[in-house]
Amino acid sequence: MNHNCVYMGAALARYGFGAAHPFGTDRMDAFAREFKIRKLDRFWRVNPPRPTTPEALMLFHGAEYIQRLQDASRDGKGFLDDGDTPAFQGILEASLTVAGTVIHAADQLMAGECRHAFVPIAGLHHARRDSAAGFCAINDCGIVIEHLKKHHGLERIAYVDIDAHHGDGVFYAFEDDPAVIFVDFHEDGRFLYPGTGDASESGRGAAAGLKLNVPLPPRATDELFEKLWPAAERFLHRHDIQFCILQAGADSIAGDPITSMRLTPAIHARVAMSLSKLPCQRLLMLGGGGYNRDNLARAWNNMLRALSP
Ligand SMILES: [Zn+2]
Repeated sequence: MNHNCVYMGAALARYGFGAAHPFGTDRMDAFAREFKIRKLDRFWRVNPPRPTTPEALMLFHGAEYIQRLQDASRDGKGFLDDGDTPAFQGILEASLTVAGTVIHAADQLMAGECRHAFVPIAGLHHARRDSAAGFCAINDCGIVIEHLKKHHGLERIAYVDIDAHHGDGVFYAFEDDPAVIFVDFHEDGRFLYPGTGDASESGRGAAAGLKLNVPLPPRATDELFEKLWPAAERFLHRHDIQFCILQAGADSIAGDPITSMRLTPAIHARVAMSLSKLPCQRLLMLGGGGYNRDNLARAWNNMLRALSP
């Protein structure tokens, strides 16, 4: 059995907003070039993207929002939100490819077909159930969590997020859901979009105490991250996790054009290695943000290298 699968292809790269936008359509190729240089196809089976249908989006999103997305995808004009997330013709199809690919990867992991899976263009963690936000037309993280609950009956899913931005679209959707064990390291919301993720936000109701938000000061380095990570590791090991999702945003690395964190690409490998040791042995990694192309290529390929035999 090949323990690792990565998803690549032109249809996945289509999710992006053109050359003038930080989230361009060239991000997947930036990753893929470095993957090829490092010859990681020796250890990672390359799968094509897998589109799904609008019904799958409704695992997480409301029908009214999907209709709006469908209309925006036809017209291709204006913004889906207040100005961060432009509509383009085909944005629905591109979103269906992201969501379908992430669902496919989760199913492969559940079937034991692979133990680690990576989808570079995915991890759109800001979209809410009824709206787009922060470059995210849909929330594939939320969709796959609902899929794992509904179609695989899972009750303890870890969602770990090391993107510089707080994963608000995931956090608030599952704030009171005890099935989602949430860990999010991000640049302090007082200094960076979306402004949320205070350490006091630790879950509500049946999920009280099941969410760990770790805001880091601007210019935070590996040293601080390393100091705080072991507590997150212990937190995860306390909860008998059945499946682990890592949103591996590379915008937390020094030199990103839109954040001011100063981690190095070594952190992504460090975190992936740590999560791969959870007893469940199912790790789904999603690219997330990252707008410096060299950074995302290094961080994501470092993760894959670290998980290679
Ligand atoms: Zn981000």
